Amino acid sequence: MAARNLTFTPVDDIPKIHEIANKAFNTGRTQSIAFRKEQLAQLGWLIRDNEDALRAALHADLGRPPQETDMLDFGTVYNDLKQAYDNIEKWVKPKSPGFNPKFFVMSPSYAPQPKGVALLIAPFNFPMFLLIGPLVGAIAAGSAAVLKPSEQTPAIAGLFAELVPKYLDTELYHVINGSVAETTKALELRWDHILYTGNGRVGRIVAAAAAKHLTPVTLELGGKNPVVFDPKVDLKMAARRLLWGRFTNGGQICLCPEYVLVPAEFQDTLVEALKEAYASFYPDGPEKSDSITHIVTEAHTVRIKRLIDETKGKIVLGGSVDVPTRFVAPTVVRDVALDDVLMAEEIFGPVLPLVPVKDIDEALSIIRAREHPLAVYVFSQDKAFQDKVFRNTRSGAAVVNESVLTAGVTGLPVGGVGESGYGFYGGKFAFDTFSYLRVSLNNPSWVDKVFSFRFPPYKSNYKKY
Ligand code: NAD
Repeated sequence: MAARNLTFTPVDDIPKIHEIANKAFNTGRTQSIAFRKEQLAQLGWLIRDNEDALRAALHADLGRPPQETDMLDFGTVYNDLKQAYDNIEKWVKPKSPGFNPKFFVMSPSYAPQPKGVALLIAPFNFPMFLLIGPLVGAIAAGSAAVLKPSEQTPAIAGLFAELVPKYLDTELYHVINGSVAETTKALELRWDHILYTGNGRVGRIVAAAAAKHLTPVTLELGGKNPVVFDPKVDLKMAARRLLWGRFTNGGQICLCPEYVLVPAEFQDTLVEALKEAYASFYPDGPEKSDSITHIVTEAHTVRIKRLIDETKGKIVLGGSVDVPTRFVAPTVVRDVALDDVLMAEEIFGPVLPLVPVKDIDEALSIIRAREHPLAVYVFSQDKAFQDKVFRNTRSGAAVVNESVLTAGVTGLPVGGVGESGYGFYGGKFAFDTFSYLRVSLNNPSWVDKVFSFRFPPYKSNYKKY
């Protein structure tokens, strides 16, 4: 793993950066659609020209196999960029409220306008996609943006600080690097939108800071995503997709399946299918595999090790941890009780607990007793079973026979509900997030000849509606 030092932005520079971005925004140059498209194209080149360096940075930070970076980061970012570039003229078009005989001569309409200067705070687990995805929306909307990458991924945070000024307008778009002190300073300032992706504890700090300035906020948070497993399923397919979803990016994905609710009498069969899938993923054992993303820091590795050591469930696959290399073997634990340490918090690592239940009703009551997750997953071929699960739960995503993928589907909103966050981004939804709707009306003077009854003195024979 590469050296882990990152140059932090001096705290005193942060208000100056904020001021530069505000001044640049007030020049009005982001009103030009041609300008926005040029910046989007530049952002595309920033990534395209530096793919190798970005892959290397993600490998240094997360021990990421390049295939995961290509599939989960580059693919999604290029699609978002292309969608914004191709659709921006359509997205900015003024819209009519619909024909109304009383008002149509006044040409009422509404159109999205840039909100202003946005602060984008990203976490460590997808340090590219979760920073660049929102930035695409901000640029398309004509907003300026200050990016705050996670200090836990220093290689990519440092690389963005170097590349952004080389490719994008140096006054409108900035990167600030740092930890709590720097982010706290940034949060004291008045922004026109804050998009924060990360954990709920810090999400509350961000929302409270934003409230002081009435700044609108998008909170993209996490949680514990359940899987409801039905024996009526294509078992081989389900086992592979489930393990891929839990283990890809080292289990450090907000949309990862966090626990599986499986009928008790079916648990043995599921474990056998998972063992088969596991052996095909890591034929020489996980320790020898080069297809495994590592854990972001030693502190997180130690945290996950403690969960593995303290679980009262039975480890049936994996279980080994090497703290210095931040390696956690993909792990499956069976017979996990609801009060087990693995069920207490978001694991955010490659450990999959299997929780035996009596039936679907017990599974639903377990999900409903917890906070609303980002995703509810169902593995089942039975439409009635799927419908019952989704009708009785709330989550950002409701997914059948798949896991994780929704965030990568261009055009779908990314967002949660309740404890998993509020607001959306992703494609047009990111454009909407960094825009506000401005209404317009233009009333010709001749209208007063036919519409004068509104002026005092009021008469009793006025037209009522
Ligand atoms: P993290 O530790 O990298 O922190 C995220 C950001 O918050 C960083 O930029 C960090 O500098 C900043 N931060 C940390 N402490 C702060 C403080 N006291 N005040 C102000 N800013 C502070 O990442 P994390 O929060 O551990 O990220 C993992 C969490 O993010 C998980 O819960 C995961 O589920 C969630 N997540 C959600 C989504 C989504 O789209 N909903 C996506 C990815 C991750």
